Amino acid sequence: MFQKILIANRGEIAARVISTARRLGIATVAVCSEADRGALHATLADEAVVIGAAAVSESYLRADAIIDAALLTGAQAIHPGYGFLSENAGFVEAVEAAGLVFIGPPAAAIRAMGLKDAAKAAMEKAGVPVVPGYHGAAQDLATLAEAAERIGYPVLIKARAGGGGKGMRLVEKRDDFAEALAGAQREAQASFGDPAVLVEKFITSPRHVEMQVFADAHGHVVHLFERDCSLQRRHQKVIEEAPAPGMTEEVRAAMGRAAVEAARAIGYRGAGTIEFIADGSRGLRTDGFWFMEMNTRLQVEHPVSEAITGLDFVELQLRVAAGEPLPVVQEDLRIEGHAFEARLYAEDVGKGFLPATGRLSHLAFPEHVAFQNGTVRIDSGVRQGDEISPWYDPMIAKVIVHGSDRQTALSRLAHTLDTVRVAGAVTNLAFLSRLARHPGFAAGGVDTGLIGRDIADLSRQTTPSEETVIVAALALDGLIGQRDVGKSEARLRGFRLWRNCPFQTRLLHGEDIVDVAVEIDGNQISNSTGVVFALRTKDNHIMIENGSISRRLDIALWDNAVTVFDGGNATTYRRFDALARASSGEASEDCIVAPMPGQVIFLAAEAGRRVKAGEVLVIIEAMKMEHTLRAPRDAVIAEVAVRHRQQVSDGNRLILFESLEDR
Ligand code: ADP
Ligand code: ADP
Ligand code: MG
Repeated sequence: MFQKILIANRGEIAARVISTARRLGIATVAVCSEADRGALHATLADEAVVIGAAAVSESYLRADAIIDAALLTGAQAIHPGYGFLSENAGFVEAVEAAGLVFIGPPAAAIRAMGLKDAAKAAMEKAGVPVVPGYHGAAQDLATLAEAAERIGYPVLIKARAGGGGKGMRLVEKRDDFAEALAGAQREAQASFGDPAVLVEKFITSPRHVEMQVFADAHGHVVHLFERDCSLQRRHQKVIEEAPAPGMTEEVRAAMGRAAVEAARAIGYRGAGTIEFIADGSRGLRTDGFWFMEMNTRLQVEHPVSEAITGLDFVELQLRVAAGEPLPVVQEDLRIEGHAFEARLYAEDVGKGFLPATGRLSHLAFPEHVAFQNGTVRIDSGVRQGDEISPWYDPMIAKVIVHGSDRQTALSRLAHTLDTVRVAGAVTNLAFLSRLARHPGFAAGGVDTGLIGRDIADLSRQTTPSEETVIVAALALDGLIGQRDVGKSEARLRGFRLWRNCPFQTRLLHGEDIVDVAVEIDGNQISNSTGVVFALRTKDNHIMIENGSISRRLDIALWDNAVTVFDGGNATTYRRFDALARASSGEASEDCIVAPMPGQVIFLAAEAGRRVKAGEVLVIIEAMKMEHTLRAPRDAVIAEVAVRHRQQVSDGNRLILFESLEDR
């Protein structure tokens, strides 16, 4: 076994690998960008090496700097995590050329699966069923449109170099094909430097079911059962589970066999995932699943499989990379219970899942274990006070639960999500909580369209309770507050109020103005209709008493804002500031404002040009998605305040318009 390894990644996965290495007595070296000095992963490791600037191309994607760091610190092997260089065959070769061990598959296996078109061709040859479609070399519109015709609509256009749901477009009808193709090619070029695409039959009622495989250097290959990852938005996974609902022993055996075949066909070694698309319209069937792609690395959602098998996949990866035989054989593997994982992100669900940024002024989880199997497991790469920056993936944590059966595990997920406390950035927490309570999901009726169909309901804002609004107002006025803001053990200052005192204030909830007018008498709060509740502070939370019933609220104060947690609902209010509001009022029909931080990857605007309502003027790209900004009305462009390739922040004014009449 190795004595020292380097982890070529950041965030939760780096912390995850460090945790297992430490348990096995292996020393760890972290690498970090300048922006990540002091980040959790860098402080957890025994040593950390700064490898470059914040932009990933200048740090986490720099193979040379990472290999130098390993040589400098005497690490013997490199764990790539997921993302970044994990599926880069050139990196594997460079690591090996430097006399180091890559904790992952051989370069040739990565190459065989790296491009989706070549991978499909190889799998067809190995007898694994693949999604019907076109994966040829010709890339002109006529050839691809004709292929789509032959396959039959709806079709899915995919970047052959794709990953993370990028460069993918669903096309329902012929008329939309050309525009969708252009979009997919542009996104593919921008993200992967390769515009080539394939066209696939879009499977109806699609379910994403994937098989975990492990192979050692001695010819043993096993599968560790399936995961269902059908709950997706923009082709990205949101909640994953293992085993798959409705899976039968027969289908599992067939899928497991196909996955093991696939791994054998390319001489695989280490942890890998074979992703299948299944036709969910008639239940899972042995003739109703097709190979989509193989991810030649540890997957984000690997903890759900760890939970049901009781294994530590990072330990298996380390053992296999060190040349040991797999410590398990297929016949001995059993499924224990059921597990779910929910991905908690800083993102704005209501704005189409736009990535968000911010300082996590408050971050607290219920009792849990981290980076190892447990009933409630939370793997996170950030701590309270850390910044979610525009540079990296906006994931905050993975919330993983395990239970004796699916229903127990799902209730546990819903309850656990309700007790997560996060403030300082917009998150998808409320959305996850709703999703965990979705009746169709609870019944096991999952398909990749579920979130999209019910998005209005899943992203609905709940009306905050009257107590929530009043507590927010009192907190923003300093009447109740925290001592030691910023420390995890922050305690509330004792609540003491005057006798018979009217209290009036104005708050902002998003863009809405909220007026609060109450009467305070000791700890009794009343409005014009009578006593509403009594309020007491206890340790670090607030008790609301309505008659004989009392309920707990938590608050987090940050940057002129307060977040009130009432059960699973978190509501944020700001102080109303009439001046600031007047100046932001222009974000209307007269300008285009960046809705998220990101980079301008397309700009079709020059001052003086006449544009039509709906015309695409700017495309911004952030972490994993493209966002298109269109002209709000027929107008003339007065000013263009950005350049192509420029990095912009949330709220920056990009384009100003004058009206046609002004001319
Ligand atoms: P996939 O969606 O490809 O099946 P995952 O859900 O495991 O796989 O990961 C989503 C995608 O985003 C992957 O392609 C992975 O490489 C990428 N990714 C995930 N997390 C990060 C990260 N922290 N940094 C960079 N890329 C990431
Ligand atoms: P990526 O590399 O971006 O993860 P995949 O090929 O794995 O790309 O596809 C991502 C997601 O897109 C899948 O999980 C699935 O939801 C959807 N998808 C992919 N191919 C098909 C298909 N042929 N029919 C229906 N949905 C599909
Ligand atoms: Mg995939």
